[in-house]
Amino acid sequence: LEFRRVLFRSHKICFIIIKLLKMEQILYGKPVAERLDEYSSKIFKTFESEQTKPKLTAITVGDNPASILYVSRKQEKAIKLGVEFNWIKLIESTSQNDLNEIISSESKNTNGLIVQLPLPKHLDVEAAIDCIDPKVDVDGLTQFNLGTLFTENYQILPATSLAVLELLDFYGIKTVDKNIVIAGRSRLVSAPLAKILSSKKYNANVTVIHSRTTNQKQFIQNSDIFISAVGSAKLFNKSFFKEGSTVIDIGISKIDGRTYGDVDNLDLENYLSNRSPFPGGVGPITVSALFYNLSILLN
Ligand code: NAP
Repeated sequence: LEFRRVLFRSHKICFIIIKLLKMEQILYGKPVAERLDEYSSKIFKTFESEQTKPKLTAITVGDNPASILYVSRKQEKAIKLGVEFNWIKLIESTSQNDLNEIISSESKNTNGLIVQLPLPKHLDVEAAIDCIDPKVDVDGLTQFNLGTLFTENYQILPATSLAVLELLDFYGIKTVDKNIVIAGRSRLVSAPLAKILSSKKYNANVTVIHSRTTNQKQFIQNSDIFISAVGSAKLFNKSFFKEGSTVIDIGISKIDGRTYGDVDNLDLENYLSNRSPFPGGVGPITVSALFYNLSILLN
């Protein structure tokens, strides 16, 4: 604990030095994830006996290598935080009815449940997600939990949105009256984030751009904070960004076995004030956000 306190304090000193020297700040996800883990593990420790050990269930369909990797990371984190991990591996040809039934019945038997995406093409993601009982929806993606974002009285935030908010908070990046442009409008990642950032809690001026936006550069160049959640390798480069702005890369895509973010980092050094690295930015925080949500649902 003492080590963590020293780590956080040294981070604060780094922020000040970076600001004074007008250097860019790289928004590493690891310390942010550690801060979330510290909170969740305290809650999990209160469930010490094996009988009440918190349980997280993950459902995968097929053997998409990226999904297997992501679920393995969640399993590792579960072990580290003292959470029982129940991995249900379904075959690629699982029908929608069977999947829906399994999700509904497993929801009754766990404290948290995730359906790892993407699902095989014949399956309807939204139909599957809405079979998760909102009480165990640690990803915060069911219609019910997303709907609560409109009341601003929410209990659970979608894990990726929470990861971005934690990243901004940890590195002291203010959102009030800032122009934030988000690339992407998906139900699961970018739309909830846009809703939250424009809420009275964050007070940002949010613009959403998407695949039909023709003058993207004009929007992005006007942003104080640009967040990309597209999934297209190196889609946005230096020419898109305003000098001194903040760029957060959520996107992940794979080409010839290599993974890329949406942002091309070429020549970006010290051009921006803050930028998330890829890998090592939002990704590790999203895993911890999931466990943070589990701790909230248990509390
Ligand atoms: P998605 O459902 O495929 O949505 C992609 C969005 O990008 C859509 O709204 C799409 O617009 C928009 N888009 C496509 N081409 C574009 C372009 N040229 N310019 C601007 N917008 C464009 O994907 P998702 O589930 O939201 O995920 C987005 C990315 O985040 C993926 O790479 C995913 O792997 C990654 N991800 C990362 C984490 C993490 O922890 N780092 C977590 C979750 C997801 P239209 O609506 O017009 O089609």
